[in-house]
Amino acid sequence: MNQMLRLDGTVVAQERKAALIKRTADFLKRTGRKPGLAVVIVGSDPASQVYVRNKVKTTGEVGMQSFHFELPETTSESEIIAKVKSLNTNPEVDGILVQLPLPKGIGADRVTEAILPEKDPDGLTTGNLGLLLAGKKRVAPCTPFGVMAILEHYKIPVKGRRAVVIGRSSIVGKPMAQLLLEADATVTMCHSRTADLFHHTRDAEIVVVAAGKPRFLGGDAFAKGSTVIDVGIHRPTEGPFAGKLCGDVRYEELGHVAAATPVPKGVGPMTIQMLMENTLHLAELREGART
Ligand code: NAD
Repeated sequence: MNQMLRLDGTVVAQERKAALIKRTADFLKRTGRKPGLAVVIVGSDPASQVYVRNKVKTTGEVGMQSFHFELPETTSESEIIAKVKSLNTNPEVDGILVQLPLPKGIGADRVTEAILPEKDPDGLTTGNLGLLLAGKKRVAPCTPFGVMAILEHYKIPVKGRRAVVIGRSSIVGKPMAQLLLEADATVTMCHSRTADLFHHTRDAEIVVVAAGKPRFLGGDAFAKGSTVIDVGIHRPTEGPFAGKLCGDVRYEELGHVAAATPVPKGVGPMTIQMLMENTLHLAELREGART
């Protein structure tokens, strides 16, 4: 009987965290300062506050300096952009992150674009997305970068494989497809207007699901022996998963696939780890440029 391999993101993140702590300590020894990550939160969205607390805590755990700014709900777009610009010129700050969502009426795109690409550890400015597309990557967006790290850790072959990405957002789907392409996969992108989704997924050797639809795909969507990566993360308010975390995929139906990520403990824990790795990478690039 085929035994499905559970791709555990907490294990991968922990292993990479140990290596990152060492690299961060080396950076401090070499430069006399800690890499710095600034997190800006506007308003009091409870989920965002949890994310920000986690980011601040992890920044300290890996030996980086954390700068944390809480701005009131009433802050205007130009005031947020002014804050970002002051961080752009602060020499102690290597990465700037503005927690989304922002209050109504504030252009998240305009705020993100105000971040200097050299200080954008999320990799979401057009400057960094452009470099990724051009094959001159500075940093890759954290979630798809985390998916690649899971595939690498578990030695899942990518080169020459048929990969399907479901979802075409700039934060997950598009950069995911680009990273798989860079790793020499043959990539198909599917989205809400794709005709006959199963035709594509059933033919794929690797499927990355980022549709943002709770428990949307079951076992019948995937081929025997394939690898399934579930990026979705939801906490439904009703039904059998009410109050619990679930993904876009019905994991319990995946007995026939070769490997799959669960939710929780799949892709989720990787995102924050990759954010820390990207921050250190940006710090190293800035220090390199200075010498
Ligand atoms: P999004 O809503 O911006 O994009 C969803 C994409 O899915 C769209 O491109 C859409 O075309 C596609 N889609 C929707 N319905 C579809 C269908 N029926 N068939 C095929 N494609 C369909 O979402 P996003 O920001 O890309 O995030 C996707 C999911 O990943 C969400 O559940 C989000 O919470 C999760 N996410 C998780 C992490 C993490 O750290 N694990 C990070 C970012 C996003």
